[in-house]
Amino acid sequence: MKIAVIPGDGIGKEVMEAALHVLKGLDLDPEFLYAEAGDECLERTGTALPDETIEIIGEADSTLFGAAGESAADVIVKLRREFDLFANLRPVKSLPGVPCLYPDLDFVIVRENTEDLYVGDEEFTADGAVARRVITRSASRRISRFAFEYAKREGWSRVTAVHKANVLKKTDGVFREEFYRVASDYPEMEAEDYYVDATAMYLITQPQEFQVLVTTNLFGDILSDEAAGLIGGLGLAPSANIGEKNAIFEPVHGSAPQIAGKNIANPTAMILTTTLMLKHLNKTQEAQKIQKALEKTLEEGLVTPDLGGSLGTMEMAAEIAKRIEG
Ligand code: ATP
Ligand code: MG
Repeated sequence: MKIAVIPGDGIGKEVMEAALHVLKGLDLDPEFLYAEAGDECLERTGTALPDETIEIIGEADSTLFGAAGESAADVIVKLRREFDLFANLRPVKSLPGVPCLYPDLDFVIVRENTEDLYVGDEEFTADGAVARRVITRSASRRISRFAFEYAKREGWSRVTAVHKANVLKKTDGVFREEFYRVASDYPEMEAEDYYVDATAMYLITQPQEFQVLVTTNLFGDILSDEAAGLIGGLGLAPSANIGEKNAIFEPVHGSAPQIAGKNIANPTAMILTTTLMLKHLNKTQEAQKIQKALEKTLEEGLVTPDLGGSLGTMEMAAEIAKRIEG
């Protein structure tokens, strides 16, 4: 198993080191292919995403990405395009011992990653600017199918499409239509749809009701940050960018320059990110071993300062690694 490792900038490097320490506690012995990307790489080599990095990702079975600083948008947008990573997966699962609004949350947001307003087709006009919103049938079908397949594999029974088709009649009309077309291939699964504004409220008032949400790029971006807030914040939220051939796994947080270099970053998001990768590689048992060890460590309060503890990034990782059962 070949895993490309891109630590990147700031706390990306710290949480990556911590996560790899935990990963090495398993009986897997993967081959790690280190690669560069981000601000420091830009400064040193003149590009934030060298061709060599793209080659290494292409060669690996999977990629772990820490964080890139100011070049993050460039780097990750280019990678999503280069490898056609059309699905962004954000599990929202509350963790034991972590204060949060709801103790038993467990749902997933599946975000379309390639189109919508994020195609970045904007232009100035005489009186301001306009942007083009792209929603294709093919991408809507592909992301809907991904959501249903994921739901089936993970044992969920309901998939909810989120849109604003009452106002955005054509674009979100297409998205909703294709969602229900795909849904008809999954008669055993419940399919429903909500408006995005109502969903934003339900995420606060009754998030326990959700199982798998599937939505377009911009709505998904916003709702998944809202959902990260529900489970205790950025230090805890993992994500995956998945395509037909390649997949890149990264924590939701960025390089956090304000806390970088202090050994206080919470490694949880990056460690959960590695469990997503392991599941994607069909290493479910290994993913569960890490998840259990992490939960024990959190329950015992052996945590970083953001969660009220006094451990450093690496110290917390060491406690987690110690709790992995053979
Ligand atoms: P970037 O531009 O790279 O996204 P940023 O300054 O926006 O950097 P983020 O990583 O998005 O920083 O995080 C914002 C804030 O959230 C940080 O300054 C930090 O206080 C907190 N934070 C984020 N990640 C973690 C973490 N892993 N552990 C602890 N605190 C974190
Ligand atoms: Mg940020």
